[in-house]
Amino acid sequence: MQTNWRIGSLFGIPLFIDPSWFVILGLATLNFAVAYQKLGTIAAWSAGAVMALLLFASVVLHELGHSLVARSQGIKVNSITLFLFGGIAAIEEESKTPAKALQVAIAGPTVSIGLFFLLALIAKILPNTNPLHFMVGDLARINLVLALFNLIPGLPLDGGQVLKAAIWQITGDRFQAVHLAAKAGQILGYAAIVSGLAVDYLTGELVTSLWIALLGWFGVRNAISYERVTTLQQTLLKLKAKEVMTRNFRIVDANQTLRSFADLYLRDCTPLQVYFAESDGRYRGMVVIEDLCLVERSEWETKTVESIVRPLTEIPTVTESANLAEVINKLEDERLPYITVVSPAGAVAGVIDRGDIVQAVAQTLGLRMTDADIKRIKQQGSYPPGLQLQVIAKSTQN
Ligand SMILES: [Zn+2]
Repeated sequence: MQTNWRIGSLFGIPLFIDPSWFVILGLATLNFAVAYQKLGTIAAWSAGAVMALLLFASVVLHELGHSLVARSQGIKVNSITLFLFGGIAAIEEESKTPAKALQVAIAGPTVSIGLFFLLALIAKILPNTNPLHFMVGDLARINLVLALFNLIPGLPLDGGQVLKAAIWQITGDRFQAVHLAAKAGQILGYAAIVSGLAVDYLTGELVTSLWIALLGWFGVRNAISYERVTTLQQTLLKLKAKEVMTRNFRIVDANQTLRSFADLYLRDCTPLQVYFAESDGRYRGMVVIEDLCLVERSEWETKTVESIVRPLTEIPTVTESANLAEVINKLEDERLPYITVVSPAGAVAGVIDRGDIVQAVAQTLGLRMTDADIKRIKQQGSYPPGLQLQVIAKSTQN
């Protein structure tokens, strides 16, 4: 679903541009070109275009601030993307402590404030007969607005991240902190939509009011998505392997020959069937059909199932008390279709595949999921597009 253009990378972080960013670039060029008309038409438009590019650079530097601080905490930054409402740094996981989360949150505004002071100083030094005096001054103001706007205290804005870190510090509960900061974001977003409409009613400035309302709508949507992700993270930590696993596996006799195993079980070719071999009341290990295929057919009459099993100590397993985030991460890291759950006694307690996981999450959160949906997920071995649990699980590990 990547519709963004990659235009390069900074410090190893890929930089993307969403097509909607060009709306901003166009508006900025137009705005500055009009403001600089006294320079003459060509010079004004050139200066406008330069200012639009410097606006672009300002936003990138702001996001780079967040990104580099996150990276210094050992957190991976997947990309920086510029779009209609500014920039986003795709930071893979949460900081480990509220203080570190605060550092990431304020890093962007700190860069912008720093640029404001630097540019304001340069503008002061330049004589006001020099056109650069006004351009640098405008750029300084852009950076100030960038910092102050982002410090509005509601998610998804930086101020919301600051609020989250503060509540997290006070209550010790990160999830509650995100819920509250997201609520603040929603309230502020709705307030922006209402004031956008009020501006239109009072002043008739359609473009300004539309812009404020759009920003509000964007804020509300993102605040809701923060809440949703947090609820999912909480669910993945709450659900344990024991509650999600099924007994959808077969126990076969480890002492039988491979031929007998093939005759008994491989006729009703259910591709997703999981087999464990047992003898003398003990689990000997997992039977993997590919391993069977590696044995010469002529040896199937003499070799036993036990000779090809993978012992439980050598296959990836989780305990019954493992949380679902752990289960999902292990499935992804080892690229497994399913994982074995072992009991404290070392026996096979159950198995979990992606279908079981989605079913448990959907049940817990009251999401609609039909049997056909679950069956399809089991067969395809991947999560549905609207429920990318592998991404949520990764951001949950702490
Ligand atoms: Zn920011």
